[in-house]
Amino acid sequence: MISGKSRVCGIIADPVVHSMSPLIQNFYGAETGIDFAYVPLRVLEEDVKAALEGAYALHITGLNVTIPHKQRVMAYLKEIDEDAGAIGAVNTLVRMEGGYKGYNTDASGLKRAMAEAGIKIRGQRCILIGAGGAAKAAAFVLAQEGAGAVFILNRDVKRARLLAREMNGRFGRELMEGMGLEDYKKLPQTRHSYLAVQATSVGMYHPMPAQGGEGGRFYGDASPIEEEGFYELIHTGVDIIYTPLETKFMAKVEKAGGRTMNGLTMLLYQGIEAFEKWNPKVTVSKETVEKAKKLVIASLRG
Ligand code: NAP
Repeated sequence: MISGKSRVCGIIADPVVHSMSPLIQNFYGAETGIDFAYVPLRVLEEDVKAALEGAYALHITGLNVTIPHKQRVMAYLKEIDEDAGAIGAVNTLVRMEGGYKGYNTDASGLKRAMAEAGIKIRGQRCILIGAGGAAKAAAFVLAQEGAGAVFILNRDVKRARLLAREMNGRFGRELMEGMGLEDYKKLPQTRHSYLAVQATSVGMYHPMPAQGGEGGRFYGDASPIEEEGFYELIHTGVDIIYTPLETKFMAKVEKAGGRTMNGLTMLLYQGIEAFEKWNPKVTVSKETVEKAKKLVIASLRG
């Protein structure tokens, strides 16, 4: 129930209609028994500054930020968490005196989800596909958790090289190399020897009518690299996409004998990390996470 004392948070995005965060965050609020309300807020790109000023004036406790505002919003923050600054994107804002502080819980959410699934990063040879906002968070996690080597494959090779350079500079070692998607053929071709993280939007199911499909729904039945030979290299494939729950990338990894994880636990944990920042005295239990998982799956299937 919403009351006069409710702590109000929300998500800014454009579009925002597809967001699972209102469902998830209000569920965390109800399960932990706090007076909390979380709303979807559509914000156009040119209105980001005004939206933050308005949110501050309205005493909104915190905001999630998603496509396309994760980088733009950084210019209007009072403070930026060190890790978020290194990643170059924020997805969570917490109200402080004079404005908002920005964090990146995509990275901490991915780290927690991989650890919980027992996926080891330390010393691993890794392939990261993508060089956008989510890939930056993934690159940061791989570096922070001690990956042995990271090959960043991206359609736009310049972006891959730039991300590799930024991370190598940040971590002070030549850990990452930026390459084109096809360049996996230049890597040592040892079967089942790479941990791969798929962080592009290829294969994602788009709920927006503008993106085509019947009834406003379109399923992107594709993977960023189609050749079967690529998947022979992978022992574990993490896809950060959660719609659909099994992507074509995952199906291909499994067909080649590897294990997989989808982006659902990352989604739930990035939300928990944000929720616990807005409500510092509250901890979301493991049981709540399991219930939230079922709720999201039911909603995605419905
Ligand atoms: P983004 O910044 O727009 O980056 C998109 C990435 O996908 C870029 O690397 C881009 O390559 C690549 N890409 C797009 N279309 C492509 C195509 N047709 N062929 C090859 N590569 C293509 O988006 P983002 O914020 O990183 O999000 C990426 C995905 O992560 C989305 O599906 C999002 O839902 C998911 N995500 C999940 C979570 C979670 O909690 N599980 C959190 C954040 C994001 P170029 O650089 O060449 O354009």
